[in-house]
Amino acid sequence: MSFSELGLSDAIVRAVTEHGYTIPTPIQTQAIPAVLAGGDLLAGAQTGTGKTAGFTLPILNRLAASSNHASAAARPIRALILTPTRELAAQVEESVRTYGKYVKLNSAVIFGGVGINPQIKLLKHGVDILVATPGRLLDHMQQGTVNLTKVEILVLDEADRMLDMGFIKDIRRVLAALPPKRQNLLFSATFSDEIKTLADGLLNAPAMIEVARRNSTVEIIAQKIHPVDRDRKHPLLAHLIKTNSWHQVLVFTRTKHGANKLVEQLERDGITALAIHGNKSQTARTRALSEFKDGSLQVLVATDIAARGIDIDQLPHVVNYDLPNIPEDYVHRIGRTGRAGATGEAVSLVCVDEHIMLKDIEKLIKRSLPREVVPGFEPDPNARAQPIQLRSGGGGGGNGGRRGQPQGRSPAAGGRGAAPAKPAGPAKTYGGSGPARPAAPHRSGGRGR
Ligand code: AMP
Repeated sequence: MSFSELGLSDAIVRAVTEHGYTIPTPIQTQAIPAVLAGGDLLAGAQTGTGKTAGFTLPILNRLAASSNHASAAARPIRALILTPTRELAAQVEESVRTYGKYVKLNSAVIFGGVGINPQIKLLKHGVDILVATPGRLLDHMQQGTVNLTKVEILVLDEADRMLDMGFIKDIRRVLAALPPKRQNLLFSATFSDEIKTLADGLLNAPAMIEVARRNSTVEIIAQKIHPVDRDRKHPLLAHLIKTNSWHQVLVFTRTKHGANKLVEQLERDGITALAIHGNKSQTARTRALSEFKDGSLQVLVATDIAARGIDIDQLPHVVNYDLPNIPEDYVHRIGRTGRAGATGEAVSLVCVDEHIMLKDIEKLIKRSLPREVVPGFEPDPNARAQPIQLRSGGGGGGNGGRRGQPQGRSPAAGGRGAAPAKPAGPAKTYGGSGPARPAAPHRSGGRGR
């Protein structure tokens, strides 16, 4: 199957081919004809499946086919793509530009954390395809600087993440500003009741497609666990990076504070590292990402939300410095490596506090991960599990706090930044709530609920 056989025009196929893609991925094979046909779509697909091209290609095709040749400034926004994060928004718009190289359509991206005035100017010049994060789009709507009355196609990309991040009200307000007759495309990796409710209200007789969950492509990624003591993780990471001459290592920490601290420690070891997380300015994030991409930065340390949508082909190494408290995030994290058939390696540094998390992850991916103790970093067999801090201290409102909640539930009220792992309500708590107990191999202190 080729891109032209899917019904795409020569101009679009040419741009895709020049970009180096000749064979559509499974999600593209299914989504492209469905979107070209003009109906609504409900797609189960994660990052890494090629979903972005799955919707941008047919959207460009449709809009170009019925383009009204008016001057750019006089043309209205005809497609609106909402994404949960700034990084993903920027990357989706980059794809629109890449694949739209040979059609006469303008695109723009708007997100928070940067000045609003340049965006207002951009919107005045005429935009056919707008990619936006919900919060900043609402700001523009309130200021009357964006007109959505002529939108023909709406995409909710990573809808589950947008709901996780508390964007449902913003999304509903955006939906209310759109014309009722339009094509709706909803992409989500998971289907909670909340997503189903959103889809039921939004989609009209949608085509439904689902491609294999990321869990099944995990096979091409070599995964292993290095058991290690809590306070030996940093020396072990530095050791691994140096002895294996690793470059382009994406390291995940659970908290923003943890990310900052690790960057400082690595810098002291002479390893170049930068952090990206919710407290970093957009400029800092963009800089870190581009240095990482071009190879001048050896290590990028990220929290889960900041890392969503980071799109780097063939990232060789992903390190879980801390295990994620949501098992699905493990799959998202390691999916950053081994993309599109390339092989990658994902290692997790696991201390005694994290044994329950590890068990939950192994349950999800339906296999047990090989343990490999690194000589010189043997964990103390008598170490006791301590409760794990699930969120960054101070301030709240960043990604640390929100990720402390299980998917599909609203954040518990009044979460206190620096409180140890005891979120209110039904959230899962890792680590013992009573006195620490000695941990047997692969078992840990009790679950706090
Ligand atoms: P996405 O799921 O949209 O984030 O895409 C995942 C990765 O696959 C990105 O690096 C894309 O550039 C790449 N990709 C998308 N379509 C194809 C294709 N047809 N062949 C090979 N790689 C692709």
